[in-house]
Amino acid sequence: MDTAGTDRFDLAALLGRLGVPGDGLAAGDLAVRSPIDGAEIARLPSHSTAEVDAAVARAAGAFAAWRAVPGPRRGELVRLLGEELRAAKDDLGRLVTIECGKIAEEGRGEVQEMIDICDFAVGLSRQLYGLTIASERPGHRMMEQWHPLGPVGVITAFNFPVAVWAWNAAIALACGDSVVWKPSEKTPLTALACQALFARAAARYGADAPDGLAQVIIGGPEAGAALVDHPGIALISATGSTRMGAAVGPRVLARHGKVLLELGGNNAMIVAPSADLQLALRAIVFSAVGTAGQRCTSLRRLIVHEEVADQLLAALKSAYDGISIGDPLDPATLVGPLIDWRAGDEMHRVLGVAAQEGGTVHGGGPVTQGVPDGGAYMRPAIVEMPAQTETVRTETFAPILYILKYSDFDQAIALHNGVPQGLASCIFTRDLKEAERFLAAAGSDCGIANVNIGPSGAEIGGAFGGEKATGGGRESGSDAWKAYMRRQTATVNYSDDLPLAQGIKFDIEGD
Ligand code: NAD
Repeated sequence: MDTAGTDRFDLAALLGRLGVPGDGLAAGDLAVRSPIDGAEIARLPSHSTAEVDAAVARAAGAFAAWRAVPGPRRGELVRLLGEELRAAKDDLGRLVTIECGKIAEEGRGEVQEMIDICDFAVGLSRQLYGLTIASERPGHRMMEQWHPLGPVGVITAFNFPVAVWAWNAAIALACGDSVVWKPSEKTPLTALACQALFARAAARYGADAPDGLAQVIIGGPEAGAALVDHPGIALISATGSTRMGAAVGPRVLARHGKVLLELGGNNAMIVAPSADLQLALRAIVFSAVGTAGQRCTSLRRLIVHEEVADQLLAALKSAYDGISIGDPLDPATLVGPLIDWRAGDEMHRVLGVAAQEGGTVHGGGPVTQGVPDGGAYMRPAIVEMPAQTETVRTETFAPILYILKYSDFDQAIALHNGVPQGLASCIFTRDLKEAERFLAAAGSDCGIANVNIGPSGAEIGGAFGGEKATGGGRESGSDAWKAYMRRQTATVNYSDDLPLAQGIKFDIEGD
């Protein structure tokens, strides 16, 4: 199945195995292209605002029923979803590769992340704990409890087309919420596949999974905006660029909704003179060129001590020379295409600006030999920069690694934190004091801070997200679930008196 008339990825069979109905995938306003060769693979109709309204109404009905289902029973649905994902791991991973261009290994890894968060959420469904709090009034009990919040609107980016939905949906469903998902307009097929797998899980689960519990809205920013502005959506969890977050955040707050923002990063690694350079090298290459530099946590800035800079740069250039760039479905490939030529052209433009700012550029051009025609295959670039210019301070969603030198640790931290974004960060050092200073209050200002580990590839058990322009949201593990519930402080008086808080006397006649 593809709209050009040939089915070069065996897409019809793949979608069929995943449970996506074949009809309705070849006519619509939204053209879906594979980054592998840039050719159209499907056409889908975008949802109108009226259809978004109808989906939110269904989600409200589903929420009213779902919130009354006990948490551990809700967890059973998420367990079944995890089972469906296990069974479909290879197929869904392949579809991720076809639709967003990440290599096969990373496509499957993304599905594994979905399975992991389902496992986490199943356990969580029995651990939605509140607190018992000491009351200052005699004969009173005070507690904090967590209730389901409402329909959750999930807006996702192209580069993690399925995992980010799962981070949100698995937790939201366990918490008693319904979910309406607006995936990236560049990756709607993977969303339809997730929806089909969810439908299989719901069919096995039984009648207490209401209709409309998980839905998908197809379309671009306008469809996302219809969700953002809808008063029926209690929480908007939006993942994407800082530009998108700046538009979405204020709109949700203006209608007094809740918002969870997961936006762009500009992630750095400090390499200290004591670092294990071999270890650092492997971490740098994986996090800078993996997913073709299209992870929110991709390594973009290398802040290297001047004593080891030349040695590390030489090793890096030689490692970059050996990277296999090509068809992401080929198991030998380490770097696949960028999402489209717009991204390829932007990478080219930014490298030109960096050179004008005094940067020395290594690599970075288009790859034309040994790659499928039509895809935006780019050689990863290393750029030695004389200073942290505006270009370095801006996230370019491509494999560009800027190198900056430092001479003392305070300078390294200042460079590290001297960008608008605050997502992932790391230091390679064998000096305990430096490692601790990096993690201390005056150290890294990011939501994720690692020692002797690269910035990308987080585990789902921790809360994921970043500070400053990255938006401040947290999702996935730890207590990130609290964003998907409403907190209630409840006090019960089991005495015969009515003492007031703060010792206030308010005697009325007859007392
Ligand atoms: P994008 O901002 O272009 O689009 C993201 C999503 O937002 C899409 O679904 C899009 O349709 C929607 N959207 C855009 N404008 C909107 C608006 N005004 N109202 C409502 N919805 C709107 O991002 P992208 O190019 O798909 O993804 C790359 C970006 O996402 C990078 O900046 C990357 O760092 C970031 N990202 C962040 C995280 C994280 O967890 N922090 C994870 C993945 C990607």
